[in-house]
Amino acid sequence: MKALVYHGPGKNAWEDVPDPTIVESSDAIVRVDTTTICGTDLHILKGDVPAVQEGRILGHEGVGTITAVGNAVQSLAVGDRVIISCIKSCGHCVNCKTGLYSHCLGDEGASGTGWVFGHLIDGTQAEYVRVPYAENSLHKLPEGVSDEQGVMLSDILPTGFEIGVQYGRVKPGDAVAVIGAGPVGLAAIATAGLYGAGTIIAVDLDENRLEQARLFGATDAVVSGAADWKEQVLALTDGAGVDVAIEAVGIPETFSMALDVVRPGGNVANVGVHGKSVELHLENLWIQNINISMGLVNTNTTPMLLKLVAQHRIPAEKLGTHRFSFDQILDAYDTFSRAAETKALKVVISRV
Ligand SMILES: [Zn+2]
Ligand SMILES: [Zn+2]
Repeated sequence: MKALVYHGPGKNAWEDVPDPTIVESSDAIVRVDTTTICGTDLHILKGDVPAVQEGRILGHEGVGTITAVGNAVQSLAVGDRVIISCIKSCGHCVNCKTGLYSHCLGDEGASGTGWVFGHLIDGTQAEYVRVPYAENSLHKLPEGVSDEQGVMLSDILPTGFEIGVQYGRVKPGDAVAVIGAGPVGLAAIATAGLYGAGTIIAVDLDENRLEQARLFGATDAVVSGAADWKEQVLALTDGAGVDVAIEAVGIPETFSMALDVVRPGGNVANVGVHGKSVELHLENLWIQNINISMGLVNTNTTPMLLKLVAQHRIPAEKLGTHRFSFDQILDAYDTFSRAAETKALKVVISRV
């Protein structure tokens, strides 16, 4: 088969590799019909994630069709259309039992790490992928949900919802600011209404992304390049700040922006993946009763989110902006890596 193989910083290639086979009885082999690229893949390509070894097939998002299952797999069959969750979960360990799939203790990849695809084991930017713990790590796609909608449920929709909205403790009537209207920020915007957010303020440098944010449910948009951006955000609240500030970029500047606009007693939910440390001014923050949360997605809300996508309550289909075939995957990387110019949100890569 062909797959996108990592060959060290700045080097990847769409090339021939051996087909994956069933290794454990709980595995499935999935023919990948649609995949996409995550910001994390760009970090890997830059060499920011040293655990990813040369020769690794990248990618942790995908929708496909099962072509083989191990002896222990009972609830899935050859021919099933499935979403490949970005997180492995054995379903049996103490962390999986509490829904903390991000720290699944199953041996696959590394015990205690849920994100293994395209990281510690071969990933989904390939014609076929071996999925460990298939019964728990795959979700059957109902008819009526397209591949393109489904692939947004591998990672970004559960990440925006669980780490942004749920960890941010959004409540009915809350004012919520989402700093960064990229794909994951838009996923948080699209799901903040599920807990009744009243005001949803998108904050981004890019006016195109702010326009997009309104299509996903943002009630207001603030250009973060404006000198008075903070005053603009506060003016959309009672003046004291937002109840929940969701950081969806992953740089020190945007993390401190979230702290700038949160009200006393509010929540800052960090969703962005940071490459360097941020300063935390506890000498000022302690007296403001702020809760700060962060984490890796568990994907235990994927079945619920899938239901809402099927009911057209979450516009997953609007996240895909550019389409490519598998043999154009390097072009897809190029388009996605120049998102400010190309206006890409998610690039959709499909079997033709
Ligand atoms: Zn991702
Ligand atoms: Zn587990």
